[in-house]
Amino acid sequence: MVEEVLKNIFVIKVPLPNNPLKNLNSYFIKGTGRNLLIDTGFNTKACYDALTSGLNKLNADMGNTDIFLTHLHSDHTGLSASIASDSTKIFIGETDRQILVNFFHSGYWNEVDEKYFALGLSREELAENESINPAHAYLPSENGKYTGIINGFEFDLGHYKLKCIETPGHTPGHICLYIEKEKILFSGDHIIFDITPNIISWDHSNDYLGLYIDSLNVIKKLDVKSAFSAHRKAIGDCHGRIDELICHHKDRIAEVEQILKDNAGATPYGIASQMTWSIRAKNWAEFPVTQKWFAVGEALAHLEHLRHKGKVNYKFENERYIYYMNFA
Ligand SMILES: [Zn+2]
Repeated sequence: MVEEVLKNIFVIKVPLPNNPLKNLNSYFIKGTGRNLLIDTGFNTKACYDALTSGLNKLNADMGNTDIFLTHLHSDHTGLSASIASDSTKIFIGETDRQILVNFFHSGYWNEVDEKYFALGLSREELAENESINPAHAYLPSENGKYTGIINGFEFDLGHYKLKCIETPGHTPGHICLYIEKEKILFSGDHIIFDITPNIISWDHSNDYLGLYIDSLNVIKKLDVKSAFSAHRKAIGDCHGRIDELICHHKDRIAEVEQILKDNAGATPYGIASQMTWSIRAKNWAEFPVTQKWFAVGEALAHLEHLRHKGKVNYKFENERYIYYMNFA
């Protein structure tokens, strides 16, 4: 499905079958010289067919089109290498570019598995997750030539000038695009209107939830008339949604703190199993393993946020990270 959402700005709805995100909104912006395509979809046939049929309807010529990826996740980057022409430049935030190129090194996903084992997943769960987790399974067909960009970089498409605004949190190098003159924001997965973006912890040295909330406040300072998100409903109320997301995480932080108070020495997996989740599963045991994987990452982000605030700490014991409250 293709729709013109504003003059020369089109959304192509790319379905993500069997995925709670439901669809990716890929945006095609017609320029006076080159065009820009924002995000692409998983590297699967269903996504490829939907994206290329949308581009065909728009008579889009990839020979004259560059690609911008809001962040490194495979539902955004997956088709970039398959649809790029020889002259297409593929842009992505420099921080995410450095992580993305590692995805193609053998050994990277083993390290991720070891990390998630230490967070509490079992070897059986990890083995099952490995083959089906879209983060790994639907990556671009090859390690494309990515051009890393940073805060302030500008795409000049003639009638539209889009400025990069770094919004770390959902991923370490997530970038939103802002058209100042028309007050248009492409929010990627930083702000999604009808689901909550997944926030995980990528390492123990940064507070990714804290970074995410700071990045929400960065966007809140912008004057935004039209906001376009990467999943589900494309258009929404940007500032109202920011308030809701900040409120959601405040509640979540309080919930994790309470669970930890009642369960000293729990792993992030143990904490995640007791958090409330809005997914269609009766209980934690029935969660699909990929959703457990994301949930554990989310629990860790909240635990690490509390640890960076000095409220909790962890120990590494019997190959697992266990968390407990700090009592001053
Ligand atoms: Zn996404």
